[in-house]
Amino acid sequence: MTDGDSEHRAATSGAGRLFVVSAPSGAGKTTLCSAVRRHFGDLAYSVSYTTRTPRPGEQHGKDYFFITRQAFEAGIAQNRWAEWARVHGNLYGTSAQWIDETLATGKDILLDIDVQGARQMLARFPHAITIFICPPSMAALEARLAGRGTDDAATRALRLANAKEEMAQQDLYRHVVVNDDLERATRELIDLLTHYRAMPGTGRPRISP
Ligand code: ADP
Ligand code: 5GP
Repeated sequence: MTDGDSEHRAATSGAGRLFVVSAPSGAGKTTLCSAVRRHFGDLAYSVSYTTRTPRPGEQHGKDYFFITRQAFEAGIAQNRWAEWARVHGNLYGTSAQWIDETLATGKDILLDIDVQGARQMLARFPHAITIFICPPSMAALEARLAGRGTDDAATRALRLANAKEEMAQQDLYRHVVVNDDLERATRELIDLLTHYRAMPGTGRPRISP
């Protein structure tokens, strides 16, 4: 082992890896992330806070923490969010305390956040491993959104318009996975995480002088 290796290990010990996954709504991110979480039983998943109303079947504390706009805005004033953004008219945020505490235990974290949030996380955690999930085409995206049956036509139109903007920002990400065939894309994502998890921690925050 070289001095460089030992320095790197010392600097990263106790710091888990941070995986940030984004995708335009309907690309299959929830489906893929669920499969990844089932595969890696020890991956910590950040449950976001949102002002959105729960969809049928969604559980408070499991899918999201559903909070009021007032509570969310109080969180902004108290610097409670590691990142936050307005997405499709609702506010979404990640708990800074949960991220810091979980990384400190050495656990690896999976974050499912939008492009604005990924940008903020990269500024705070430059070593974050960012992955963008792409639909095979805009037509496929439209069909998946309609097939999911959870959003009305106006919401779907808003999500499609945002999708075009998000697709244009995919260069921000270290990896792009095309969700064409679900099984193939799941395998690619699992292989990516397996690769990084075999390396020393890369999720450490930027240390200020
Ligand atoms: P997101 O979380 O990105 O909004 P979802 O995971 O909810 O997307 O997927 C949107 C819809 O597309 C769901 O009905 C899901 O079952 C379906 N879906 C996901 N991946 C694929 C795929 N590779 N091929 C076809 N349909 C898919
Ligand atoms: P949905 O309402 O479909 O669950 O999520 C809409 C979008 O919000 C998705 O792109 C999702 O990744 C994003 N999102 C979910 N949680 C967060 C979060 O904590 N921060 C940010 N910036 N985006 C989030």
